[in-house]
Amino acid sequence: MNQNDLYIKGILPELNFKFMFVHIQNTLDEIHQLQNFSIECKTLLGEVLAGTLLLTAKDIKENHEMISIQIETKSSIKKIIAFATANGEIRGTIIPQQAHWDMQTSSAFGEGIFQVNKFAYHTKKVYSSAIELQAKSFEANLISYIQKSEQTNSFIKILSNPVEKSEIYAYIFEPFPETSFQKIEELADFLYHLNSKEFLYNIFHSNNENRKFLKKFNVKFLQMNEIFFRCNCNTKIENLILSMGENEINEILQKEGKLEITCEFCKKKYIYSEIDIKNLFLK
Ligand SMILES: [Zn+2]
Repeated sequence: MNQNDLYIKGILPELNFKFMFVHIQNTLDEIHQLQNFSIECKTLLGEVLAGTLLLTAKDIKENHEMISIQIETKSSIKKIIAFATANGEIRGTIIPQQAHWDMQTSSAFGEGIFQVNKFAYHTKKVYSSAIELQAKSFEANLISYIQKSEQTNSFIKILSNPVEKSEIYAYIFEPFPETSFQKIEELADFLYHLNSKEFLYNIFHSNNENRKFLKKFNVKFLQMNEIFFRCNCNTKIENLILSMGENEINEILQKEGKLEITCEFCKKKYIYSEIDIKNLFLK
């Protein structure tokens, strides 16, 4: 049994679908240790991180690209932001970190916005699209985002187990453009009768239990990789300072004597003296 968080990608050649399975547990614990969430926030962030990873299976053509989901609402939660790359790197946060609600995700969301950003590093372009957030689960919001933005018949499931331990399982099945309606129906029928939790648990923790699935669809696994937490704030913080402009920074320096910024993802503290700032703007 593998202790690491993993994602698995593959195809169902006969049905013309590609898929991605995700299991997140240790990475979420790691982020939780840095940011100290309420159990509700930890679980919900885990769901959003899993959903962001699922979108990398859909939307990312190259490994250097990154996807983020950003949710802003006016309920117990103000903001959620999650990033993922196609090679399994994730980071994210929820504001406020100690929010509480009755464990249904739907009551965490009020009126708001559900936005997806895709960053293409080579061209330095950001592609954004957004829908209105609904007072439903995160999974339901993600599904309506995909339906509205792309009109594909993707099947998505995001499962969390908040009580015992925050453990997230998720899948996406996405049809290739030439997939017939009949094949989409066939997969829909299979998934309808599937115990998703058991199915995903067995995918990650048992080698034999899913033989039926593997055989039925002649499944081809293409890639299995670790999911891991990484924060690249070093360069981000400098860019943030540069984008604020010298005048604004100097005002803070005059008032505080130094500039102190804490990264919201990894909680690393950056302290800049007047000389540091001068050197930074000279670069
Ligand atoms: Zn950081």
